[in-house]
Amino acid sequence: MKIEYEKCKACGLCIPFCPVGAIGKEGDRVVIDQEECVECCLCLRNSKCPTEALYQEALQMPRSIRKAFSDPLGKHENTDLGHLGRGTEEVKTNDVTGLVHGTEYIAMAVEPGRPLVGARISDVEKIAMAIAPYVVSYDQNNPTTKLMIDQKKGLFEPSIKNEKVLSCILEFKLAAKDLNSVMKAFEEVGKEVDTVFSVGVIAATDEQGNCPAEAVIRKRGITFLETSTKVNMGLGKPLFTA
Ligand code: SF4
Ligand code: SF4
Repeated sequence: MKIEYEKCKACGLCIPFCPVGAIGKEGDRVVIDQEECVECCLCLRNSKCPTEALYQEALQMPRSIRKAFSDPLGKHENTDLGHLGRGTEEVKTNDVTGLVHGTEYIAMAVEPGRPLVGARISDVEKIAMAIAPYVVSYDQNNPTTKLMIDQKKGLFEPSIKNEKVLSCILEFKLAAKDLNSVMKAFEEVGKEVDTVFSVGVIAATDEQGNCPAEAVIRKRGITFLETSTKVNMGLGKPLFTA
């Protein structure tokens, strides 16, 4: 996002709308820190700038990644997916898609970044590299997957590593037996990254209604009182055969 200084009155109305604190006062001017700005357009859409001084140039790669992941209306034009949003709907539609319908495999949705923090792709790569030995496959319909140059090693294109996004999502499948190792890898890499990340675990219950993944997570000291859970009741029309 840029400011047209011939028009800007330095009123500061746009400052509180920035979710990453990229807009601030510098002397008697209001400026946007281009390194921190994630091109989300919230300032442009919400501040009602009295002089229409805010504007966004047509963004090229790699900067266009910022908008694609951070602007709710930003399209992933940098990939052949072209859709809106940061991930897929897989997590919420598992009843129907059956990505995970046995207890042998688990799916995960790991989301680096949050409002006020954001995440650089270099940190997303650190997380992907930490779990690389355990990932069976990444969701190929996910825009973060599309930015990887080596999914087996969790590597991203070097030219995009400094790009900052509000958040993005790594969606992948792993063998249930590796869940404990993956949780351990998250704990370790969490000390190295300059952002926060949430971990979504998508696991099926067995015929008795027990969820083996839950026991593994509890064993690592994470109680379900600290997490939020969603239970799919199998009410959708399945597209798979169990
Ligand atoms: S709202 Fe507009 S005029 Fe006011 S500081 Fe922001 S860009 Fe400048
Ligand atoms: S586009 Fe978003 S991140 Fe950039 S200055 Fe505006 S509100 Fe902040």
